[in-house]
Amino acid sequence: MDTPKHTQPNLGEMLHLRGNALSKGEPIALPLVQSSMFHLPGMPEDFSNYGRVHNPTWAQLEHVLAHLEGAACLAFPSGMSAISAALFATLKAGHRVLVPSDGYYVTRLLAAQFLAQLGVEVIERPTQGFAEGGFEGIDVVFIESPSNPGLDVIDLRAVAKAVRAAGGISIVDNTTLTPLGQRPLDLDVDIVVASDTKAMGGHSDVLMGHVATRDPQILQRVEDWRKISGSIPGPHASWLLHRGLETLDVRFDRMCTSAQVIAERLAAHPAIKHIRFPGLPGDASHALSKAQTLRFGFLISVTLGSEAQADTFINTCPLIRPATSFGGVHTSAERRARWGDVVDPAFVRLSVGCEPVEELWQAIDQALNAL
Ligand code: PLP
Repeated sequence: MDTPKHTQPNLGEMLHLRGNALSKGEPIALPLVQSSMFHLPGMPEDFSNYGRVHNPTWAQLEHVLAHLEGAACLAFPSGMSAISAALFATLKAGHRVLVPSDGYYVTRLLAAQFLAQLGVEVIERPTQGFAEGGFEGIDVVFIESPSNPGLDVIDLRAVAKAVRAAGGISIVDNTTLTPLGQRPLDLDVDIVVASDTKAMGGHSDVLMGHVATRDPQILQRVEDWRKISGSIPGPHASWLLHRGLETLDVRFDRMCTSAQVIAERLAAHPAIKHIRFPGLPGDASHALSKAQTLRFGFLISVTLGSEAQADTFINTCPLIRPATSFGGVHTSAERRARWGDVVDPAFVRLSVGCEPVEELWQAIDQALNAL
């Protein structure tokens, strides 16, 4: 891969962010502060005052998220609540918002079922050719790259520049790559949103999300939205995500490295009719991914011979969990057509987990050979 043009977070420092600020006798592990009320005689000043506004466990989580993103971060109780916060904080009646027509479908539902009813005009475009038609007259441009599930990629720097020149705000959903795989804020994007339910948490036991931005005014709006709407993360979920982040680097590295190996072998397997993985030199997303991302990710999209074959593959491979969502330590897969994504009925999104790669390949190969 070419030298990436991004500032990598210092991950050793991240692991010791809390430790280096401790006083003698304090716990090394992050305390889970499960309290809605705080002891507060006199004026509140800078102290924790109420659980909807502040919590020491999410404050520490946000400290780590900010280190990862290289930007101020606000934690949310799910990816969708982070996406809602970014959109409600930036849009108003009469505005126009552009969303991908082939990205995560719930973002489109949010736009169609709620934003449109509040007087926001919603426009959709496919990820491929997203910049065609320009961004003139569009107030907020919502981007997903690589797109879920198609794995198409957008030139983030070029789009962010064009959106800004047209007077709009750009938002990137960075869920599929995490800040270790792609750094949209370094490419001049205004806001990053992410579902931390996926690889960031990594253990399939928590729903969380975050918003990151280097724009103080946007940050204030998003924080006000959280405080006023009450869309706040619980302390336990924050604690779980914080723990997950401590191993993000090792998990993500293993998952991306294994995905490359698995994708190369799948590409040569006769049961696979079509494959998308940005790390394959022949993939439509390869050149741009190589220039713009730090890793090619852990998601692979494959199309098998038929819907029945796809189901049998997913349901019989002992090292694949048939499940929606992705990014966990366990390899998982699903047929996206079952949610109405406009893909072939035999299209499978495979999320490569942390299993040793040779064991994983053996299980996948055997399941494919038995079809
Ligand atoms: N963005 C993307 C790309 C996703 O895949 C998902 C969930 O699958 C979300 C956002 C929403 O995240 P959550 O389920 O945490 O609300």
